[in-house]
Amino acid sequence: MTDTVVLVTGGSRGIGAAVSRKVAALGHKVIVNYTHNQAAADALVEEIKAAGGEAVAVQGDVQNEADVLHLFAEADKLGTLKGLVNNAGVVDYSQRVDEMTLERLTRMFSINVIGAFLCAREAVRRMSTKHGGTGGVIVNLGSAASKLGSPSQYVDYAASKGAIDTMTVGLALEVADEGVRVNGIRPGIIDTDIHASGGHPDRVAQLRSKLPMKRAGTADEVAEAILWLLSDQSSYTTGAILDVSGGRAILP
Ligand code: NAP
Repeated sequence: MTDTVVLVTGGSRGIGAAVSRKVAALGHKVIVNYTHNQAAADALVEEIKAAGGEAVAVQGDVQNEADVLHLFAEADKLGTLKGLVNNAGVVDYSQRVDEMTLERLTRMFSINVIGAFLCAREAVRRMSTKHGGTGGVIVNLGSAASKLGSPSQYVDYAASKGAIDTMTVGLALEVADEGVRVNGIRPGIIDTDIHASGGHPDRVAQLRSKLPMKRAGTADEVAEAILWLLSDQSSYTTGAILDVSGGRAILP
């Protein structure tokens, strides 16, 4: 892919920001989506532009259909959409299932699952040859949590990521002969701000010694795997879910 558009949901911080930087460095135009932190999104866009790339920050909450339609309309203005990285995702504070409110569950599944579905829908409508498109790639961010279940922490989050794994397989087969590849990434413990947002700013340090490689991963390490899935180098890979977890939760 060159001179084409890649849309990264939650592209302003963490793993999404690492993907946005690398995709832009390859010459693609990047839509950097964010919800609240405009300063982070703007700073990243400026950084990309200073390095000679092209990027646009677009505010939008992926659980809101109107926002998603706006996000993709902004992508259409830039050029031909060839890639979607379904990266936006949230965790929540540690709770047992018997403590979870409807409000919490609705937020978790609306952002992590419905948001990813809405974005995948819009991407397929643009990229699938069935709709007059010229093909493209979707990469979905799951989590090692889908295999671990995350008991007494966030079973809801783990289940939402299980849904992403299933969507990856089903959608991949749905559009396999329409020029669209759909793959997933299951990160392990990655050093980003997401842990602080779940009330555990020290999670990476606390878990380090328990991880197979005795360290957390970096956003850049996950982004490299995403980049491969976005590229033509993975042209015969679809419906695959790649564990980028340093060995954590690699068994089924
Ligand atoms: P992060 O550092 O918390 O960044 C989250 C990004 O998503 C931010 O850009 C944020 O925008 C955006 N975002 C949050 N809610 C959104 C919404 N409703 N609509 C649009 N954008 C939204 O997260 P991360 O650690 O990079 O994680 C990225 C993905 O990897 C997530 O799907 C996560 O579940 C998955 N993952 C992460 C880990 C890990 O250890 N870090 C492990 C497994 C899986 P604002 O800045 O505006 O809030």
